[in-house]
Amino acid sequence: PAPTTPSAKAIYDKDRSFVFHSWSAQSSVDPLVITGADGVHVIDGDGNRLLDFSSQLVYTNIGHQHPKVVAAVAEQAHQLCTIAPAHANEARARAAELIIDIAPEGFRKVFFTNGGADAVEHAIRMARLTTGRYKTLSAFRGYHGATQQAINLTGDPRRWPSDYGSAGSVHFFAPFLYRSQFNAETDEQECERALAHLRSLIEFEGPAGFAAIILESIPGTAGIMPPPAGYLAGVRALCDEFGIVMILDEVMAGFGRTGKWLALEHFDAVPDLITFAKGVNSGYVPLGGVMISERIADEFATRAYPGGLTYSGHPLACAAAVATIETMHDEHVVDNAALIGETVLGPGLAELAERHPVIGDVRGLGVFWAIELVADRDTKEPLAPYGGSSPAMAAIASRAQRNGLLMFQNMNRFHLTPPCIVSAEETKQALAILDDALCAL
Ligand code: PLP
Repeated sequence: PAPTTPSAKAIYDKDRSFVFHSWSAQSSVDPLVITGADGVHVIDGDGNRLLDFSSQLVYTNIGHQHPKVVAAVAEQAHQLCTIAPAHANEARARAAELIIDIAPEGFRKVFFTNGGADAVEHAIRMARLTTGRYKTLSAFRGYHGATQQAINLTGDPRRWPSDYGSAGSVHFFAPFLYRSQFNAETDEQECERALAHLRSLIEFEGPAGFAAIILESIPGTAGIMPPPAGYLAGVRALCDEFGIVMILDEVMAGFGRTGKWLALEHFDAVPDLITFAKGVNSGYVPLGGVMISERIADEFATRAYPGGLTYSGHPLACAAAVATIETMHDEHVVDNAALIGETVLGPGLAELAERHPVIGDVRGLGVFWAIELVADRDTKEPLAPYGGSSPAMAAIASRAQRNGLLMFQNMNRFHLTPPCIVSAEETKQALAILDDALCAL
């Protein structure tokens, strides 16, 4: 709703006059005015402090306005605001070093982009050039960005208006026991059958056509669905068997969100390429990139990589990444995310599910949790249709917001994804507000 304070109302009106908003019919846009933020809170136009359990679009992993990151950006701005990608620069080189330091064994280089979608574009291009093949495999219930290739890899309704059938992209069902596509009753069955389905798809589509399989290590926007043990290793084995490059998308799940530096550390598979963005510098300045394994990096040792961006490795963004990663190490931010997930957020949501039959499923780890709301627990009928919203979902979100809690909402799900620095106390406050909103429903 529009704010009541005159200065905030003026911001709201100017936004409505001039800003063209993402994913929206412009006449129905109703943005929340935000005038400030610190830590886990944002401040709205009327001066209310809200717990930001959305981390905006799940990216402020270190929290808002961390003084060390703000200072590093300011210092870099004074020293050298910008320099082209062809030059060597301390902030860029150090950021790449720190990123490779948290990458799996065998990863050597970082290609910097401006965000997640272009990281995905370049990872796919690297895979195509390495294999000499074109087609790609990606999962339904997955999101990889909004540029043309990335939206075609995406497996949700946002792809449909941009799908002209020419991107070479084939979709498959990844494991998701709560709504099993394979009539599975256990994680083991789901894993085995999802892998058999993927194998069949590759064999029937023609294995020699596929350049890459791209998967989110833990699908985020589509519902925070940690894959069962053995699934990613099974995908790795299929990639090896058929000569396909394996790409894990860590744009949302990476950099502490799941209680590990990278979400893939929860599993037993090492991909060939890793895409990242968001948490790498908590979005203080736009940054993304591709972590490149030695095998793929070697492909471009003597032949040119045909790709680049004017702002690749922008010094302000890289200085923010250096300060973010160093501070996350120094302040044990990743351990905090794991601890909050295990001791407060996970158990708290499970407890809410015991009292509120509308919660059909609770999934997640670290500070990366989803609750799936259903009209009926037995039929699992979603509280909002696939690809849509509903008055009941909107009522919960707006009551929570009025009481000081912002959550990430998608279809019939709320995602509780606070910054990794969130305290136990703040988490309990958020759970109480959510409890109240569910009671009101
Ligand atoms: N990949 C994943 C897993 C994401 O969650 C997102 C964004 O939410 C993207 C890629 C696209 O990133 P960006 O919006 O920075 O282009």
